Amino acid sequence: MNKKLIDNLKKQHYGIVGNHSAVQICRWTKSSLRDEGECYKQKFYGIKSHRCCQMSCSAVFCQNKCIHCWRAIELTSGDDMKKEETNSPKEIIEVCIKQQRKLLSGFNGNEKVNKKKLKEAQEPMQFAISLTGEPTLYPKIGELISLLRKRGKTSFLVTNGLNPGILSKLNKERELPTQLYLSLNSPNEKLYNKWHNSKTKNAWKKFNETLSLFPKLKEKTRTVIRMTLVKGINSNMKDEFVKDYAELINKSKSDFIEVKGYMSVGYARNRKGMGYDAMPTYEEVQDYAEKIEKQLGKPYKILDEHEFSRVILIGRDKKRMKIKKGEI
Ligand code: SF4
Repeated sequence: MNKKLIDNLKKQHYGIVGNHSAVQICRWTKSSLRDEGECYKQKFYGIKSHRCCQMSCSAVFCQNKCIHCWRAIELTSGDDMKKEETNSPKEIIEVCIKQQRKLLSGFNGNEKVNKKKLKEAQEPMQFAISLTGEPTLYPKIGELISLLRKRGKTSFLVTNGLNPGILSKLNKERELPTQLYLSLNSPNEKLYNKWHNSKTKNAWKKFNETLSLFPKLKEKTRTVIRMTLVKGINSNMKDEFVKDYAELINKSKSDFIEVKGYMSVGYARNRKGMGYDAMPTYEEVQDYAEKIEKQLGKPYKILDEHEFSRVILIGRDKKRMKIKKGEI
């Protein structure tokens, strides 16, 4: 990462980790430390927001420039990390924790903070590998996940689905994360190209390969499809799309589907059609999730919701929601 990129990330309160990674304290980690509420992933899956490390091992690398991305896609350095001098998984984990502690040090002496939680937060037990960039571009992603597992930490990895080969390899080598997320924001190729501006050739085809791969991964990881709903000129939540979404989700046989309303924040806010008017209300998200649930049919059903985050959880089995020890 060059100096300009580093300065920009620092301005956004990222902690820089080695040559290509970064960490940022999630707003939910902060709010949990003040006993003011936890993220929906704590409510749904049982991870602890105050012990979460929100990080990226490929901070400025991605194949796409998605219109809804709240990160600075303008700063994306492309998709080739091989040119970088990469850091080892051990270094990344240890420096992330060190940086997280440094960023949390501002909470010391804060009267509103729950002291017990602050002490626990010094050792994060959940790694959200999703902050920015595409994590499967980091050549040692499998080793990173394995090391987290060895240390008893859960990992949630969010992918754009353009590296099915890497996911397949992680599957073979038993290096899949605790929970694997695939972002699904377009029901067809035309909208996909408009939304994701991918530099990968045949991106839609690759994305579909990942969807088809998902059922094979289910035994070794918990699979989640994440949909971010947008209304207005870039709408991806029209009634006519419901059938296609259901087909794509059924292809993946995903354990869970998070249907989430778009938030106009960060860099996304200034893109055409992505201001506050593009944000669906909670009721609109609920309504669309119900349509998807109905189209999917059994065993899928709505399992839970988190109003503040405008997210509805659809899944196959309510009993599987909370992560059990053996699933880390
Ligand atoms: S899981 Fe995600 S939303 Fe929850 S605390 Fe971690 S980074 Fe924040």
